[in-house]
Amino acid sequence: MSPDDALQKLLDGNKRFVAQNTQDRNFAEEIASTADGVDGYAVVISCMDARVNAEQIFDTKIGDIFVLRVGGGVINQDIVDSIEIAINMTQVKLVIMLGHTKCGAIVNATKNKGQEVSQLIAKVLPALDAVPTSLGEPSLSNIPYLRKAEEMQVVLSTQQLEESSPLISNLINENQMMIANAIYDVETGKVTILEASS
Ligand SMILES: [Zn+2]
Repeated sequence: MSPDDALQKLLDGNKRFVAQNTQDRNFAEEIASTADGVDGYAVVISCMDARVNAEQIFDTKIGDIFVLRVGGGVINQDIVDSIEIAINMTQVKLVIMLGHTKCGAIVNATKNKGQEVSQLIAKVLPALDAVPTSLGEPSLSNIPYLRKAEEMQVVLSTQQLEESSPLISNLINENQMMIANAIYDVETGKVTILEASS
């Protein structure tokens, strides 16, 4: 499977999810076929938000994807190390950096910008600063600002992941792996891939 095939497979799964046409599951069979090891092909990093459940959103089966969830989808060393473990276990072709609309971490960061914030929210603040000034002031009523901040959180997390892991950046340079930036829309269930900004 190529990185592009892995992405297409997950996007096809998201289409089934949105269409309420998810694949038939046989959990006993899935458990039995993965008991001796997995053949997972993708890693999804997402927020811990209760709406952003990667296995359902991408209509995957047991053993298909490795999922790391933390508030705001922030990157830390444990996340990087976990992805490297997955890569060493199996043929991971793709990392999806999955942000989402109406993210509580972005809302919290916007509301408390300039005040004392938690360690996690401090990691989200650079995404706010990366929003173009043309979108106006940070405020909870400025929806275009919040949407852009959610995107920038994804973009910056990907940059941070590449910088933190020579293993991952080497695989990307050799075209053996890809990171896709994406946003999950909590109103439609749809995943949209963000165009790479040049
Ligand atoms: Zn969130």
